[in-house]
Amino acid sequence: MSKKLVLAVIDAMKPAMLERAVATGRAPTLQALMERGEVVDSCVAAFPSVTPVCAASIATGTGPGEHDIPAMNWWHREEERYVEYGTSFGASRAFGIRQSLTDTIYNMNLEHLSRDVETVFERLDDTGGVRTAGTTYLMYRGRHRHEPAVDTALTRLAHAVFGLPTWGPKELFYADLFASRRTPCRSQLGLPGVRDQHGGCVAEFLVQNDLFDFLLLSLPDNDTHSHKYGPFAQIDSLAAADRQLARMMEPAGGIDAFLENHAIIICSDHSQSKVEQEIDLFKAFDGFGVRAAQRPRPGDEIAVCPNSRAAQVYVLDRDQRRKVVPRIERTLLALDGVDLVMRMGDHPDGEAIVRGERSRGVKEVRFAPRGDLTDARGEHWSVEGDIDLLGLTIEDDRVRSATYPDALSRVWSALRCRSSGEVLASARPGYEFRDWGGAHHVGGGSHGSLHANDSFGSLLWAGTGPAADSKEQWALRDITPMVLENFGVSA
Ligand SMILES: [Zn+2]
Repeated sequence: MSKKLVLAVIDAMKPAMLERAVATGRAPTLQALMERGEVVDSCVAAFPSVTPVCAASIATGTGPGEHDIPAMNWWHREEERYVEYGTSFGASRAFGIRQSLTDTIYNMNLEHLSRDVETVFERLDDTGGVRTAGTTYLMYRGRHRHEPAVDTALTRLAHAVFGLPTWGPKELFYADLFASRRTPCRSQLGLPGVRDQHGGCVAEFLVQNDLFDFLLLSLPDNDTHSHKYGPFAQIDSLAAADRQLARMMEPAGGIDAFLENHAIIICSDHSQSKVEQEIDLFKAFDGFGVRAAQRPRPGDEIAVCPNSRAAQVYVLDRDQRRKVVPRIERTLLALDGVDLVMRMGDHPDGEAIVRGERSRGVKEVRFAPRGDLTDARGEHWSVEGDIDLLGLTIEDDRVRSATYPDALSRVWSALRCRSSGEVLASARPGYEFRDWGGAHHVGGGSHGSLHANDSFGSLLWAGTGPAADSKEQWALRDITPMVLENFGVSA
């Protein structure tokens, strides 16, 4: 009989800030878990290191090349429109709040997430013997049908706008929109600052009433706090997340009693780094026909998709790619704050080309997933060109990068994603791309890039899983296999 398992995702938890919160006594529950289990302080995010892409990697154990969630803001080629999952309120408003919410709540799970991958909920639901449960998390697709909740005035309002059923884990508590049981917990439709409390309240209720074998508990407020006040302010928001973890364990009789029949995995989806300057893509692409947020115009050539510290550019008429892609690439390379520009080359078997403007001109590295080099996760590559550009070191057929962790695999997966743009960009430390609503986080924190600053998160577990040193490089895509293993389901 396997232990029950809680997977808690603390959005944007920065390993150094977790360490500080623990050292100053602000995160006693996390500290106690770290003392009782395994700790990894360099679990690598997906690229772009933004929440929807990382959430899909956590929930499916795959990268964007397989799960098809390319970004926070992207161009939907089949529907010829932008998708915006809520980079900021202004960005959502640019595309229509209702459309943005529908994309985030329903379409991300039911339409955009590839049907060729299964979520951890679907895998466990299929066993028939594992009771799955989830609090408000971007990724929730499961095998159980849920009707929208109707028991408060607020949800009646939401019901009128979004009155559609969905498919999730057995127990689903999503903002106030879906609640598979009556609980005392209210989310005020997921307002920042109350979302952790809603998750903690639901988790406490579920533990108290023994309603799950696997629970995904999402604690998103740390990300919001860190965007606003900068990553060094995370100590307060991590302390708040810690209190919700303690609250969940309380009905069991505290941490040690809880761990007797529960295992726990805690992860960040990505990190955050300080933002000091913005990059204005809209100005940079002024000379192009940029598709507007809402309506097409004659002469539209490209779609421009800022994603915090990453960006994607799409060529609308794919027959024009050969002509337009080099212009896009040149424009991005000339932009202050752009670190790396990535695209697929013309090699018939597929080859990634990464370029970057450096002091002595543009540098270039090309790579493909076949060859004699082995990366820190055991994947094979061939690489040629200016390997410094990606901080790569090559020694005895081993390829590594400390500056851009898991670089080759993450760039490859992003470029192979069928919904990605033709050209991808990653910002230099300190820079962020201004979004469709004109918003940025200068003075605060952000993420999205390939750089280690945004990419390394914490991963800790107790009561399940292997030793932390069993892998040289941990990644988000290791989490779903660890969950499945706990329940004896083959990954
Ligand atoms: Zn964020």
